[in-house]
This record gives sequence, structure tokens and C-alpha cells, in this order.
Amino acid sequence: MTSDHTTTHSIPSYLNANDMGAWGIYLEQIDRVAPYLGPLSRWLETLKRPKRSLIVDIPIELDNGTIAHFEGYRVQHNTSRGPGKGGVRFHQDVCLSEVMALAGWMSIKNAAVNVPFGGAKGGIRIDPRKYSSKELERVTRRYTSEIGVIIGPSKDIPAPDVNTNAQTMAWMMDTYSMNEGSTTTGVVTGKPIALGGSLGRVEATGRGVFVVACEAAKDLGLGIPESKVAVQGFGNVGGTAARLFHEAGAKVVAIQDHTGTIYNENGIDIHSLLDHVENNAGVMGFPEARAISNEDFWGVPTDFMIPAALENQITIHNAGQIKAKILIEGANGPTTPEADDILIEKGIYVVPDVLSNAGGVTVSYFEWVQDFSSFFWTEEEINHRLERLMKDAYRVISDVAKHHGVTLRTAAFIVACTRILESRQVRGLYP
Ligand code: NAD
Repeated sequence: MTSDHTTTHSIPSYLNANDMGAWGIYLEQIDRVAPYLGPLSRWLETLKRPKRSLIVDIPIELDNGTIAHFEGYRVQHNTSRGPGKGGVRFHQDVCLSEVMALAGWMSIKNAAVNVPFGGAKGGIRIDPRKYSSKELERVTRRYTSEIGVIIGPSKDIPAPDVNTNAQTMAWMMDTYSMNEGSTTTGVVTGKPIALGGSLGRVEATGRGVFVVACEAAKDLGLGIPESKVAVQGFGNVGGTAARLFHEAGAKVVAIQDHTGTIYNENGIDIHSLLDHVENNAGVMGFPEARAISNEDFWGVPTDFMIPAALENQITIHNAGQIKAKILIEGANGPTTPEADDILIEKGIYVVPDVLSNAGGVTVSYFEWVQDFSSFFWTEEEINHRLERLMKDAYRVISDVAKHHGVTLRTAAFIVACTRILESRQVRGLYP
């Protein structure tokens, strides 16, 4: 056999090796874990390749009668432990390498908190703010129909992500059900309650962020009341996390969203800010705080910093400014590996995305289970199970971190990669 037959390449031919984007970051994180996997590292390459990547064309008729085309993606990164699971994002910058990375992080996240799913993610390259609700419905339905061949309640279950919500999931569920010929509630999670959605799902990710923040605070001997918090992103995740901190007596001193940054050293009334954002589409102009520059946000003195907007927000350019004691990643992939090194050097305790924002997929798991059994739980039951699962996951991962003397991120990857690769190993290779 020549070496050509045995050589493998981690960079797929369809990506530009010099512009790997978020996928390059994901690969670097996987490489950092390799030394801790022992004999399982033989299977590591499997995590460096998405199992299946689908790119679809989405043609729709706009309200003005013209035709527009959008590019859509669904990537199933790994399904060794169960069906693919991960959100669908509508954003003008969505591209294949980003969706691949987000799908990879879903594999890691689902295994890190031990829910029985693989990892997947989807997206459409569209700025949803430029289109009417009817146009977005047509985009969503055509996208669902195009990816219908690979999704399903036991194959791959989409959920909301940036700029998608329960209504988007309702359109997806309806389109899939129409094509199947029967109502299939379990094909998506994050649905409206009327369609088999779960109580507590909307705020689950932000609630999970708050639960792990409390655990991390305990470990560092910090109290939540009177602590200072800065949050980037005031949507589903950031808005909920900010509200829970506020209700627990913390001072949320700085908030940044796509409209700018606001600051009040005495703490912002989050309930008033939520009302303001409802009526003004952003935090800017909130009368009880002053505007500061987006750059200054990162240097605000706080106990907790919560990036909960998009990936690649904490880089070598701003990591040095961060003064927080604990950084809780609400967003997926907000910190680049180089920035991560700077934070470690500064002694900042980083709770990684694959652990801290797993509350959403955890309650999605509960929703999927409830749909299968057609038996629905109370919100109290859901929040209780969520809290228990997140606390358990935090403890398992922090024990591994202490055992190996590594960061929580590396520990979460060790736990997750071990679980995934053990499944891979016992399943064996087909054929
Ligand atoms: P969202 O659309 O509800 O909110 C996004 C927020 O980010 C908005 O406040 C928006 O103004 C802000 N934002 C956008 N661009 C920004 C920029 N350039 N600078 C500053 N702020 C900006 O989205 P979400 O559901 O809250 O998701 C936020 C992050 O959390 C994403 O990374 C997503 O992948 C991740 N996440 C979401 C869930 C979930 O259940 N929704 C679960 C896990 C992870």
C-alpha cells in the first residue's frame, strides 16, 4: 500500500485553507485535547470532519413580485451518540465554515452535558431585518423542504438560534409535516407551546448561563448579590441571563447589543430595559444609562462578563482589557484560542460555551422527550431538571479540570470527546 492510501487531510477541499474562519478555531480546540484522549485519539480525525454537509438554493418570490435566491446550509457534524441536534441561524454572514464549526461545537456540547444527541447546525445567509414576515415564512418553508431529506425526529432536530424563534420553528414543523403527510411535532424544538413546545424553553439558555455562573461563583468564593455584571447581546440568551442576575440582586452595569453600548455603574433596571428594547429595537437611547463606546465595554470593571451575541468577539485586540473575574460564554465561540490564552494568563476563570450555554439544548432534549411521549411537564419540573443537569455537568467538568490541571474548556472537550469517541469505537466502522 502506498502512503497516498493512508494519508488523511483535515482541511476539506471545499474550504480555503487560509480562510477557515470559525472551523479553524474549532479544529485548534480539538487538537488541544488530543494529548488527553489516550488510545481513543486513534479516532480523533472523525471529529475533524463533518459527517454530512448540505448546501441548498432557496428561491422565493418577494412581496414586490421579483425573485430572490438565498443560500442555506445544514451540517450534521457527528451522530455517533444520537440524532443530530442544533439550531438554525438567519444572518447575512452565515457561511459553510461557520455552520461547520457551530455543528462541531454542538457535538461537543451535547456530549459534555450528556444529552443523547449528536451535533448539527443550520443557517441561511440572509439579513432578516430587510424582509417582511411573509417573505421570511417563504424562505423558512423552502429551506425546510430542501433540507427535509436529512432532518427528522430520529435523524436531526433543528431549533432556534440567532434571528430565529418559535414562529420559525412552527413554520418548519408545519412544512415538514405537510411533506411527510402527518403531524410530526418532534422534528424541531423551541416550538410554540400550542404545537408541543416545552415550558421553560425560551429562557432555558439564559437560565443555564445563570446556573453555571452561580456554581463558578461558589468555587471562587464570590456572591451574586451586589456583584457587577456586563453582558454583550440582549436577545434570548443575554436578556434572560441579565434579568436573572438582576433579580438575584446583582448590578448589571453594562450592556452591548447591535445598536451600541450602555453603562450605569449603579446597575441597570433590566425589566425597564427589556420594555425599552421591545419598543425601540435596541438598547441605545435607554434613558437610565449613558452610552459608552463599543471598545470601552470590554474594559468595564465587573465580576462577571457574559458575551452572549456572536462568535469571535473576544480576540487578541480586546482580551487584554477584560477585568472580569469570571467570563461566562453565553454565545457560541465568542473567544478565539489566542484570546483564551490571554484570559488564562490574566487569571480570568472562563466557563466555556459548550458548558455554559447548554441549557437551551438541554430543555430542547426535554421537549423532544415530551413530544415522543405526548406527556408534558410543569415549568417547575423543567427548571428543576435543567438546574440539576447543568450543576452535574459543571461538577463533572470542573473535577476533570482539577484532575488534569487544565482549563474548564479543555476539560469540557476531554469529557465530550471521550464520550463521542467511545461510542465511535464500540460502534465500529461501517461497512
Ligand atoms: P438573539 O438574536 O435573540 O440575540 C442576539 C443579540 O446579540 C441581540 O441583542 C443583538 O442585538 C446582539 N448582537 C448582534 N450583533 C451584535 C454585535 N455585532 N455586537 C453586539 N451585539 C450584537 O440570539 P440568541 O438566541 O440570544 O443567541 C445569542 C448567542 O447565543 C449566539 O451565539 C447563539 O448561537 C448562542 N446560543 C443561543 C441559544 C438559544 O437557545 N437561543 C442556545 C445556545 C447558544
